[in-house]
Amino acid sequence: MKKSEINGTCEQCGAALKYPVLWQGHIYGSECFQHVSGIKVFPQEIQGKSQEVIQSLVACRLQERQQFQEWKANRQKVNALVNDRYSWLISYLKSLSTGLGHDFPFDMAELLEEESESIFLDDIFSPRQLDIIADIYAKQYGRKGSKAFKSHREEFFNSVELREAL
Ligand SMILES: [Zn+2]
Repeated sequence: MKKSEINGTCEQCGAALKYPVLWQGHIYGSECFQHVSGIKVFPQEIQGKSQEVIQSLVACRLQERQQFQEWKANRQKVNALVNDRYSWLISYLKSLSTGLGHDFPFDMAELLEEESESIFLDDIFSPRQLDIIADIYAKQYGRKGSKAFKSHREEFFNSVELREAL
């Protein structure tokens, strides 16, 4: 490899190097580096910096990406678990939704279905939301305050997982 190739041009596209970044033994311009590695660096971050500084920035970005991917994979796993575990509640809430747009049952069903990052309902919902959901659930068995209402409200809390005991 000629010296000019190392210093002067990007190994990917052959363009003159303005913001060179070393990656796995190759040298790229910042744009090609991004293409090849999937890691974003901004020219203004690396402008005039030594390769040592640039390399630690790249290592940092790489670590962030790995953490993000792990978080995402874990979240998908938890989300699938929640969908499975609370399918009865999701479909019940959806059955109450007018389907005309966002209403409380719809929003709560969507929170469970799509946004859940925890299996515990008290992580997913605020205490107030959880309280209303329990009421909504129990109301199908009897008017508020009735024996049937109370026992089904209790049953609701017995059949969900909570981080904090009530
Ligand atoms: Zn290039």
